[in-house]
Amino acid sequence: MEQLFVNASLSSYPVYIGEGIRSRTGELLLSEAKGADKVFVITDSAVGPLYLEDVVQSFPDHVEIFTFTVESGEASKSFAEYERILTAMLESGLDRKSVVTALGGGVVGDLAGFAAATYMRGIPFVQMPTTLLAHDSSVGGKTGINHPLGKNMIGAFHQPSAVIYDVEMLQTLPDKEWRSGFAEMMKHAYIKDASFLEWLQRHITTIEDVKTSAVSMLKRSIQVKADVVALDERETGVRAHLNFGHTLGHAVENTAGYGKWAHGEAVAAGMLFAMQLSNEEGLSAWDTKKEKEWLLSLGYPLVMTELSADSLLRAMKKDKKTSAGVFTFVLVTEPGETITKQIPDETVHRLLESFIER
Ligand code: NAD
Ligand code: MG
Repeated sequence: MEQLFVNASLSSYPVYIGEGIRSRTGELLLSEAKGADKVFVITDSAVGPLYLEDVVQSFPDHVEIFTFTVESGEASKSFAEYERILTAMLESGLDRKSVVTALGGGVVGDLAGFAAATYMRGIPFVQMPTTLLAHDSSVGGKTGINHPLGKNMIGAFHQPSAVIYDVEMLQTLPDKEWRSGFAEMMKHAYIKDASFLEWLQRHITTIEDVKTSAVSMLKRSIQVKADVVALDERETGVRAHLNFGHTLGHAVENTAGYGKWAHGEAVAAGMLFAMQLSNEEGLSAWDTKKEKEWLLSLGYPLVMTELSADSLLRAMKKDKKTSAGVFTFVLVTEPGETITKQIPDETVHRLLESFIER
């Protein structure tokens, strides 16, 4: 089992990464949350049938376990589901010593984290990520749900007490989800870790490569995320660099209709676009043909001919990452070097048109 630490303002917490460590959940959780006598495990309908029992069985008899299963999918990050969870938590008599445990991908992590952040003004929670993408969402303390007017608009910063990452659970993930999660790893490498990027581009050229190297890559990618979060827990500065590829990425996800593009697939397209944009601005000299070939070899879709530059621009305007109506893009000027820059609408529109055509 590997272990690293995330430094947050109030505490630091461990991230455990290993094969089969869900069967040690009880021991690992109780070493952080000493004296917890009630644990409330939230999972989803795809993950629960596969792994919930192992997690429940890992606790000693004196700990009372409650479980709650939501439907798999983004729609569960809703007010309705949030309220149902709080009701169940109250009915279970959880108190400030109790621990909420999120067993699932980013959806369960965000929802369970927000429930823990707000129940009795905040009780401890533990993240047990089951997707590759959740290496990103489980570290850093952003929790929340969606509002009909915007994704992730209602939430709280609430750091977990521990992250328990059993990589064995990744084996049941569909390829689309592997690809989605790997895009966030690429992102971490592009923005902050040139040698990691070089390693990835040399060794990881198919989705099978992603699967076989998951553990070592997770460690490195989580380290980047942890370092950024330690510098800027509440996103007043450098944490915004984590949005590399996300301005266009979110617009693609929104415009195509949620679910069509996996989050990371859209982010991959967004990163390529941002590299072209920084080249265009004279800030970088990316070989975008080579970068694109890398993405294509990993199976990223990148084809967005069904979307128009106008609709993407409109979606980007609505996103919270524009300030006073001007686009602020995260640009990587060379591997590991990241800046933010305001870009005029006309430039974005013009580049979008040529980007879509190819
Ligand atoms: P997800 O939780 O919906 O999981 C993807 C799919 O895989 C779901 O259908 C799920 O049921 C299934 N699944 C999960 N684990 C599985 C397993 N081991 N085997 C088989 N199937 C499994 O999505 P995600 O991509 O993990 O996370 C996306 C969410 O994360 C979004 O809501 C996004 O807003 C959020 N997010 C949050 C942060 C943050 O900092 N809090 C960062 C990035 C993303
Ligand atoms: Mg993301």
